[in-house]
Amino acid sequence: MRIASGGVQHETNTFASTPTPLADFLRDSDCGPELSGGETIFSRFRGTGSIHGGYIDGAEAAGFELLPLLTARAQPAGVVEQSAFDMMLGWFLERLKQVMPVDGVLLDLHGAMVTQQHEDAEGAFIAAVRELVGPNVPIVTTLDLHANITAQMAEQSDVIIGFDTYPHVDMAERGREAAELMARIVCKEVSPVQEYRQLPLATLPPMQCTLREPMQSLMRRVKELEAEPGILTATVSMGFPFADIRDMGVSVLVTADGDADLARRKADELAGWLWELRDELQPKLTTIEDVIRFRNEHPDDGLIVFADGSDNPGGGAPCDGTVALRAMIDAGVEGGVVGVICDPETAAQAHKAGCGATIRVRLGAKTDDQHGTPIEADAYVRTLSDGRYRYRGPMLHGVADQLGPTATLVIGGVEVVVSTYRRQLLDAEMLRIAGIDPTARRLLVVKSAVHFRADIGPLAAHIFDADTPGIHRPDFACFNYQKLRRPIYPLDADVNL
Ligand SMILES: [Zn+2]
Repeated sequence: MRIASGGVQHETNTFASTPTPLADFLRDSDCGPELSGGETIFSRFRGTGSIHGGYIDGAEAAGFELLPLLTARAQPAGVVEQSAFDMMLGWFLERLKQVMPVDGVLLDLHGAMVTQQHEDAEGAFIAAVRELVGPNVPIVTTLDLHANITAQMAEQSDVIIGFDTYPHVDMAERGREAAELMARIVCKEVSPVQEYRQLPLATLPPMQCTLREPMQSLMRRVKELEAEPGILTATVSMGFPFADIRDMGVSVLVTADGDADLARRKADELAGWLWELRDELQPKLTTIEDVIRFRNEHPDDGLIVFADGSDNPGGGAPCDGTVALRAMIDAGVEGGVVGVICDPETAAQAHKAGCGATIRVRLGAKTDDQHGTPIEADAYVRTLSDGRYRYRGPMLHGVADQLGPTATLVIGGVEVVVSTYRRQLLDAEMLRIAGIDPTARRLLVVKSAVHFRADIGPLAAHIFDADTPGIHRPDFACFNYQKLRRPIYPLDADVNL
């Protein structure tokens, strides 16, 4: 049995001002100048907490030959340039042609990519693969929990399997599930019938978190549903809200073994469970001033985390917002840390001046005017680093990544980790390489909405969802949707399932 695999991943924030070119995929994928397949992918992902890590494990367990052709990803940002998408899809199809015939195709996609021509870029990707392999070769697609799943994606895939966790700590598990299900499909042990439901519901990151209620209990029920006789898999996709496209929002999928009626009934049931939770899924935000006050009133409570999700680069934001940092400097917060602010110019300036120097900086808020204003101040250069690290926590465990040349600056008593690349602060290792032990600090601002909870969450005594401005702010009132289907809850009144 020979199974091809691969895909292109991007979570596109259509409100971001910076487009995503091919160069970003080449830089962030770390698979060489032409995004090599084969051994490059095996050595990069084997044994890691990634989808391809799971495909590789699953292939070994099921005893089939995996042919990884291409894996591309770029840090979330604005709309993907059409030429970049066409180029990478072209590479994938070309390599697929070279290894055909294959018994199946595993697609490692995100589900919220938008290009200049495609609102539903994954739908276009899967359709192109379907066109090439024909109707009888099974396609099993893995998607992020933030996928805005469309009817086209569902129709063109035999099965879609989405992540069940946010923070996404089950990527390897889902990849393995997809690989093992693929083997059973090819052996004709099972015959999947998938049912898709799109809900008139949009949700926001803080409450999509599966470590919190109501999602924690919902996902427990989904696991029970998956264990019922005749059910092969079930997916809840919470959607990526910062995309002005028709299909933004929540959808569910249930795949049964040969029984279309069962799949339909269970998909309706699952959609109903989610619909019941719609009020509980709305976030509550806290300002940095209130958090600083809380900190002063609870001096012995340990680390407080301020989750600045509005400026989360993991959802396409610039990662250079200064609103929380400025308030902390103004209040003279001791033991305060902001991680990370992406400002290549300031990082380079610090590296040039060297450790122990004091430099005059103009820091952050340079991408647009929606994330505060640059901070002009004297900064002490405490630590310098090459910015290379490996994720040590439960999410992306073992995968290598880099912040680029990085400097830890001290401004008015507050430490700021200044990076060259935009990265979501989701792993304590990213602070350790900058010389910071988070457990020895009092107030940590993370440019992350939820993912930090996997590794940094257990270190925190209190976590607050930030009330800050930005293009990833969890507040529908801040965005002007033109293309989104209506009516949709909570943007409209009187919405029915
Ligand atoms: Zn996600």
